[in-house]
Amino acid sequence: MKVELLDVFGDDNMICNVARVSYRKIAAMYTLEENEKLILFLAKNNHWSPFAHPKLQFRLEMPIYVERQIIKTVVGVDYNSVSGRYVDFSDGYTTIYAWRKQSTSSKQGSGEDLDETNNIIATIIQDDVVDNAKIAYQKLLDLGVSKEQARTILPLNLNTTMIWTGSLYALIRLCKQRLKSDAQKETRDVVQEMLRQVKETNLFTTSLTAYNL
Ligand SMILES: Cc1cc2nc3c(=O)[nH]c(=O)nc-3n(C[C@H](O)[C@H](O)[C@H](O)COP(=O)(O)OP(=O)(O)OC[C@H]3O[C@@H](n4cnc5c(N)ncnc54)[C@H](O)[C@@H]3O)c2cc1C
Repeated sequence: MKVELLDVFGDDNMICNVARVSYRKIAAMYTLEENEKLILFLAKNNHWSPFAHPKLQFRLEMPIYVERQIIKTVVGVDYNSVSGRYVDFSDGYTTIYAWRKQSTSSKQGSGEDLDETNNIIATIIQDDVVDNAKIAYQKLLDLGVSKEQARTILPLNLNTTMIWTGSLYALIRLCKQRLKSDAQKETRDVVQEMLRQVKETNLFTTSLTAYNL
């Protein structure tokens, strides 16, 4: 898994400027405290549109099963991904070394860790599939099969790369849904790192605090 924040447009101040246009005012006419208070008010009262003006762009590398969950957040986000029809990207896989049991309380989720022996066996099964998939993919290419068809035999833990460009509000929604305990851990890890890198810029400290992130 790789997360790289590529570009940022806007900051907390932009959100205040956008909101204050209602009164033909700009953020610079107010104190820092007044602007922070406004952001808290907007978030609390679900006035979400000012938070949709700042934009963030990430390069994400993750397994296909994580990508499928990330791209479910549609509104306010644009996506472009590597094409397995053009390039051979059959080499990178996200392999698991700590396997979790099926949850007993949730049909979708996972629960406690697998015991040590079964954990080793699960890893061997996984590594066999990945090794065989790599060999089989190459064999198909050697037969003259197109990349667009050869890729169809590859497993879901194959890594893909995408550019995620979306609004701050879309990231907030993504975090609210995918940082919860019922979200898949591997997806949570990607979204947590996206949030960490945005926090590190210190550009949206008040907005993220206002949404309890
Ligand atoms: C823990 C978890 C488990 C999930 N399990 C599954 C699953 O098993 N299968 C599955 O397919 N998905 C699953 N999802 C995805 C989920 O159903 C949502 O598609 C995803 O979380 C995106 O949420 P969203 O609708 O808020 O985002 P967006 O699609 O970005 O939409 C944002 C908001 O815009 C509005 N909107 C969007 N599209 C429309 C529309 N066409 N018409 C009217 N209003 C619209 C809605 O108010 C929506 O909340 C799961 C999500 C989570 C967090």
